[in-house]
Amino acid sequence: MSAVIALANQKGGVGKTTTAINLGAALAMHGKQVLIFDFDPQANSSAGLGIRPDGATTYEVVIEGLPVVDIAVPTSIEGLTLAPAAPALAGAEVELVPMMAREFRLKRALDAVREAYDYILIDCPPSLGLLTVNALAAADEVIVPVQCEYLALEGLSQLTSTLELVRRNLNSSLRLRGLLLTMFDGRTNLSQQVADEVRAHFANTFATVIPRSVRLSEAPSHGLAISQYDPSSRAARAYGELAIELINPDGPHGRSRTEVPA
Ligand code: ATP
Ligand code: MG
Repeated sequence: MSAVIALANQKGGVGKTTTAINLGAALAMHGKQVLIFDFDPQANSSAGLGIRPDGATTYEVVIEGLPVVDIAVPTSIEGLTLAPAAPALAGAEVELVPMMAREFRLKRALDAVREAYDYILIDCPPSLGLLTVNALAAADEVIVPVQCEYLALEGLSQLTSTLELVRRNLNSSLRLRGLLLTMFDGRTNLSQQVADEVRAHFANTFATVIPRSVRLSEAPSHGLAISQYDPSSRAARAYGELAIELINPDGPHGRSRTEVPA
């Protein structure tokens, strides 16, 4: 059974791309077949995996109806495939507007390939425009990365009402799989306060917390996942645990766990 998961938060810089790459890599290392679908014109998850596409990209998939298999490229991690993005995708936001069934273009494309993968992770842009709406219409589940910083909850009500609208009008089975606390800094009270506050508002927050880690921010400049760049780091361990929590929510890394990695 395959799962299509959108990584969404209209707030920028919260860890959507970092999670797409490193959760994708961790799932692949657990033997899963994973596709990262880069659906952000910034193309950060493509660059972060060391791939600069010279041919067709997710733009052609959503606008011209090109099959995903025609753009999918292997990465340096076995089992991890990338559908790369390019800046042209920024135009798609406008070009989609007059199209027939404009909200379902991505769903149509992904439904054709979903059986080939255990997980399809869609890296969304920081907006709630038509690209993100396409991702939410195509997805079974959403993961919302939340940075453990001041104003972390800001914008989350707008996001949850968008999810509700999508559920009512486009995709009734869309499930908020969980909020993911990112860039957690155990040395600050603020991080802990934000984590507590997010958990108080959203019971389905992942038990796994992603620590703030310089190694994690360095890895994409080498085109590597953290599991390749620094496999023994806390950040690599955290994404490994997140993968296990996703695969087996009732396991040892699931929500029953109380301690938070500092
Ligand atoms: P955008 O909305 O622009 O697409 P995003 O939500 O995809 O951003 P990322 O690109 O994953 O966010 O992260 C933003 C920045 O923070 C990047 O420079 C990334 O390397 C860094 N970063 C992400 N997670 C961590 C972390 N746990 N520790 C330290 N740095 C991090
Ligand atoms: Mg991003």
